[in-house]
Amino acid sequence: QAFSAAQPSPLKPLPVQYADYALWQRNWLQGEVLQKQLTYWRNQLEGLEPLEIASDYPRPAVANYRGGGEDFLLPEELTARLKGLARTQKATLFMTLLAGFQVMLAKYSGQRDIAVGTPIAGRSTPEVENLIGFFVNTLVMRTSVGGESICGELLQMVRHTALQAYEQQDVPFERLVEEIQPERSLGRHPLFQTMFMFQNTPQTIIRLSNIVVDLLPMESDWTKFDLSLSMQERAEGITGRIRYRTDLYQPKTIQRMVRLYQRVLEQMAERPDMRLSELVLLSEAERRQILQEWNRSAVEHAGAQLIQELFEEQVEKNPGLTAVVSGGERVSYGELNRRANQLGHYLRGMGVGVESRVGICMGRSVEMMVALLGILKAGGAYVPLDPGYPEERLRYMTEAAQAGVIVTEEKMVGRLRGWEERGIRLICREREQGKMGEESEENLEKESVGESLAYVIFTSGSTGKAKGVGIEQRQLVNYVKEMLNKLESGAGTRYATVSTIAADLGNTMIFPALASGGELHVIEEELAIDGEKLGEYFEREKIDCLKIVPSHLVALQRVKGAERVMPRRVLVIGGEACQWSWVKAWSNRGCRIINHYGPTETTVGAVTYEAGNWESEGDRERGRARLDGAVPIGQPLGNVQVYVLDGEMKPAPVGVSGELFIGGAAVGRGYLMRPADTAERFVPDPFTAERRSDGGARLYRTGDQARWRADGTLEFLGRIDQQVKVRGYRIELGEIEAVLQEHEKVKQAVVVAQENESGEKRLVGYVVVRAEAWHQESRGMEYESYLKRRLPAYMVPAIYVELPSLPLTANGKVDRKRLPRPEAQNAEREYVGPRNGVEEALCSMWAEVLGLKRVGIYDNFFEVGGHSLMAGRVVARIRSDFQIELSLRSIFEAPLISLLSPMVEAAARNHVPMKHAAIQRVDRNSYILS
Ligand code: AMP
Ligand code: MG
Repeated sequence: QAFSAAQPSPLKPLPVQYADYALWQRNWLQGEVLQKQLTYWRNQLEGLEPLEIASDYPRPAVANYRGGGEDFLLPEELTARLKGLARTQKATLFMTLLAGFQVMLAKYSGQRDIAVGTPIAGRSTPEVENLIGFFVNTLVMRTSVGGESICGELLQMVRHTALQAYEQQDVPFERLVEEIQPERSLGRHPLFQTMFMFQNTPQTIIRLSNIVVDLLPMESDWTKFDLSLSMQERAEGITGRIRYRTDLYQPKTIQRMVRLYQRVLEQMAERPDMRLSELVLLSEAERRQILQEWNRSAVEHAGAQLIQELFEEQVEKNPGLTAVVSGGERVSYGELNRRANQLGHYLRGMGVGVESRVGICMGRSVEMMVALLGILKAGGAYVPLDPGYPEERLRYMTEAAQAGVIVTEEKMVGRLRGWEERGIRLICREREQGKMGEESEENLEKESVGESLAYVIFTSGSTGKAKGVGIEQRQLVNYVKEMLNKLESGAGTRYATVSTIAADLGNTMIFPALASGGELHVIEEELAIDGEKLGEYFEREKIDCLKIVPSHLVALQRVKGAERVMPRRVLVIGGEACQWSWVKAWSNRGCRIINHYGPTETTVGAVTYEAGNWESEGDRERGRARLDGAVPIGQPLGNVQVYVLDGEMKPAPVGVSGELFIGGAAVGRGYLMRPADTAERFVPDPFTAERRSDGGARLYRTGDQARWRADGTLEFLGRIDQQVKVRGYRIELGEIEAVLQEHEKVKQAVVVAQENESGEKRLVGYVVVRAEAWHQESRGMEYESYLKRRLPAYMVPAIYVELPSLPLTANGKVDRKRLPRPEAQNAEREYVGPRNGVEEALCSMWAEVLGLKRVGIYDNFFEVGGHSLMAGRVVARIRSDFQIELSLRSIFEAPLISLLSPMVEAAARNHVPMKHAAIQRVDRNSYILS
């Protein structure tokens, strides 16, 4: 008032100034006081993992900080009830709203350990209340949100954490980051990724005699965090505003989050004695949609109910059509059937019948298809034994599947020498052709029924032993009939399979082809990896349908001429996540592209997605054709149900990630001879009322993370365990680790799947060697040949790193993220000094900024104590010392002097203002500057 009237200030001089406060703080916040607070925070934030709320777009390496906002209002009545809850729990409204927010985040992310940042005023003594200056600090509120806790208890926990945090509120956040050294990145805020703010100080509007003062909302289109929620108490209730990164989320997703938050708050206020696991996250309508409408897949399949019958129907109809083409051999339906019948009779003659397991150990050929059909016709189940596997593995599989008979060929017999002495009957097709030729060529009488075992396929087992998955006729028949609907192909269609039959991938082509009069091309191994020759083959043979692992197709197409490896009508990709960028590249070939997902346990594939319509996919996102990241996996096949469930087996709302469960006709019999494993993964189905004769419907728990999109299609988000896919091969890292650990020199072993510089996945083995073995040299080869004797080649790591010990997390588990990358080995820890003038200048500059005695050219700026503010100082120093303008980002992109110095040199030489230069990292030691 005085100022506006040009009067002198009526205020008394301040007793202290901000500078006094700063000085006081500097003197006070050190030594024991500082240590005590730091110790508190170090303990409090130990082992904290970033919060991963599944985003709509893949997280960019560098955040662009563009933001959007959603406003909402908690109605008066809810506000009153929340206040009541706070009162009875002796907590503040802030704590209550924060607790609800953390519960919502936990539900959304599937994580339990939720850290949220929150600002604190920092004016803790009355003397500073009237000062103008910066006092605000950020505190990290970490809460363990477990399903078993009661809402009221959780609120108590949040209250306790908050009170403790207030007591230790003085350590500046940036000092804390320096101390705790979380992994730094340009794409993610350190220590917390979401912020919560609550304003409850009454809003006062200043009244002046001749000036009107009003409050206006602050609009901005940027945000510092993935998500931040600010709430304010007003007369009409509590208002809220969520700001979010638009490079991560769509508005609809945030609106759903707001609804979920309100639902959580309502229930917490209503029933504080409720367990968090009992919170109802879905409305009735949403529940009905997710559980029923999106699973309305019942289909009646009339006609033949056995695979061999489906095949024989085609023999009847089209005896002259080509059935199988392989290795230059071509057989008709009639011919294939006669040969399969002879084998079938021959097998029956030796006692093979329903439930008998018969191995197939042969190369990809017509003969392999004869064996497969012959075994099914005899009533048995086939067990593929890939000839490329080590003998030990084959023997284990044969025993575990209790296969008494193996159909094989001359070139394999040598490797199976001695097996007959162990009571296994080997049928070598060349040697026994004569005898088999005497058998009847007529179809066999059917002994199998829908519930009979059709095949056993082994998948990697995390405890060190492969598990045999048993699939029955009825599951395979449902699959085949459903896939035939999807493929929309009739007799004469040419199908190609390019994978081993030891995995079920190829079944997408094999059985639909043979059940519909199709022409099945079984591509031999050598041809399947030769892009150029395979391209020729596809062109010559006019292949219509192909099933392949996407990375296999990408790898094939790297060579010239290999773009011809493309079917004319339908490309089915599956076995691993597929990128939109690949689909886009394939989509100009005029074929349909189907993404197909499913574990072996649920019969080859359970859901499909038409990925070829990617243009309309782009439209759906309101013209923003942001098709980066992975292709959705789609909707269930007929008679199959899919569920995305949270830790309490409750359906997750749209957009919320959970574990994918599969039910219905796809669910296989289980793991052979492994009741405990079967019980763990094949669980009672709580959603299907219909009971089965064998005790009830079951769901297979996939271990995959997924979520529903609003349009009723599923998205695959990754694994929740240590199972990986390398070029489509399913691998439990634990299995390799268990085998490696049995090596006499190995004390401990960890295996990870890493991407190399060009984005290809490879296995790396980390080994801690027993003390007595240390003096020996180069054991990499030794591990490799050791593992090759026991595991299939695709499970053998190519690279081994020996470590004195493994990095551990706070709770004593191996910290896989902290395993050094094999490339880092060369430069390992050793101090490497500057090699030229520029490096020398940079080394001493960094040392000065970082307060270190010396810095080597391979030291990572952020690992030796740097943070973004210090990086800013480095940039300023470079500007003045070298007369060039470097962006702050370049320190994040080139955090080693070995990387930074050539950039500085080039910029100085060319007088490039580096702020405008683009730097692209090629690999560890090179970059492109443009
Ligand atoms: P398998 O038993 O070899 O078929 O492997 C099944 C696993 O492979 C699934 O549990 C997924 O983790 C992964 N997978 C299979 N198909 C797809 C797909 N289309 N997209 C993403 N992941 C897939
Ligand atoms: Mg599969």
